[in-house]
Amino acid sequence: MIRSPAMWVATASLLLLAFAPGCSKRDPAALESKYRHVVLIVLDTLHAAHLGAYDDPHGASPAIDAFARDGLVFDRAFSNHTWTLPSTASLMTGRIQERHRVVVDAQALGKSLTTLAESFGSAGYDTAAFVQMVYASQAFGLDRGFERFVYSGAREEGRSATLGQVMERVATFDGASRPTFTYVHLRRPHSPYDPAPDLRARFCRECPLADGRHDDKLRFADGLKATKLPPLQQAHAVHLYRGNLATIDREIAPLLAALAARDDALVVLTSDHGEEFGEHGLYGHGVGLTAAAIDVPLIWRGTGIRAGVDSTPASTVDVMPSLLAACAIDAPPGAEFDGISLLPWIRDPAANPRKGPIPLSARHPDDLGLPLVGVVLGDLKAILLPDDRAILVDRGRDRAERQDVSGLHRDAFARMLRYARDLRAGGRGLAANLDDASRLDDDHLADLKALGYVR
Ligand SMILES: [Zn+2]
Ligand SMILES: [Zn+2]
Repeated sequence: MIRSPAMWVATASLLLLAFAPGCSKRDPAALESKYRHVVLIVLDTLHAAHLGAYDDPHGASPAIDAFARDGLVFDRAFSNHTWTLPSTASLMTGRIQERHRVVVDAQALGKSLTTLAESFGSAGYDTAAFVQMVYASQAFGLDRGFERFVYSGAREEGRSATLGQVMERVATFDGASRPTFTYVHLRRPHSPYDPAPDLRARFCRECPLADGRHDDKLRFADGLKATKLPPLQQAHAVHLYRGNLATIDREIAPLLAALAARDDALVVLTSDHGEEFGEHGLYGHGVGLTAAAIDVPLIWRGTGIRAGVDSTPASTVDVMPSLLAACAIDAPPGAEFDGISLLPWIRDPAANPRKGPIPLSARHPDDLGLPLVGVVLGDLKAILLPDDRAILVDRGRDRAERQDVSGLHRDAFARMLRYARDLRAGGRGLAANLDDASRLDDDHLADLKALGYVR
């Protein structure tokens, strides 16, 4: 049976309580010593299907694939949202867009929400963030709870230093007097598509557009949104994206290797949304809810985490309750999560705690209209459009979401649509809420320009 959103949240909270350290028979001290260092890595705009660990054949991600090999790969993981700001707010609070209420870039995270960093900080962890994306920055309140928040922007001069700074921090782990929590949010593979030249060449072999005559036009996903690209340009845009992924994979390889060599680190690698390349007529991200737009990697690695691939649906709103449970940290007083702790399941596939649906949202093109919403339940995914049209796809049989199977699952579809309409009603008008306003300074605006969002 499908629960109403309120019932589902209540159930999720109960599930979380069941696995919280106060109720657990596990020894919290033992857990904490296992996961003395927690690292959350977000590669912006990474549609999971481009990774070898998710069966992509092009070899753009050897370091991530090697890292994933001894970890647990959730191969059906969904971001809560399809653009950076609401998606990062979800990751940092365990709440869906309809509850954290950060929908458009005039808004910042409300003070009533407790963040992941605040929770780790209250538990005595040394917290630090290294962020290259403006929509994950202090301009939107997303630095809350970090003792150290290094925002280096999207521009090359700041960006090139980020991974060195993270490696310096990892090098201090052995002598650290406190446990640590580190959040790393890297710009690539987000556009501009500006791969390292050798990697651009590798993923653009035998391509008639290898001479680069269309590169400027294709560099920014946002500029492609309204375009219907000819097939060669469409394929070349994917080459550039793949090169961008390979570039960040190469840059991040030493960090992943250093973390994988530790038996006291818990590492989660994920993304905030995907990227569309015309699979369903759209480009970029933000307004679609297709697999390309919302499927993200979710890879867990650490002592005690089983290795393998798990196809049960998971969400980025599960990350916060799961990390807190893994480190035996009590949820903040009064906190509610829209996700569940995946911890029992991460250790034992028979212990799947997922009972309810996973809610998804995308941006309405004019922001103030009804949001586009989706619901995942088991193999099925329903999408409800603002004009009330809806489709159902079977992700178990049709990973690319090409076929509407609503006629084959009428009862389930009707129940999922009821849930989706409740969700959509909860999102109505949120974009007009300006109680907590964002603060963009000149540097942030320059970074938006570097990302192609301001011309
Ligand atoms: Zn993003
Ligand atoms: Zn090409």
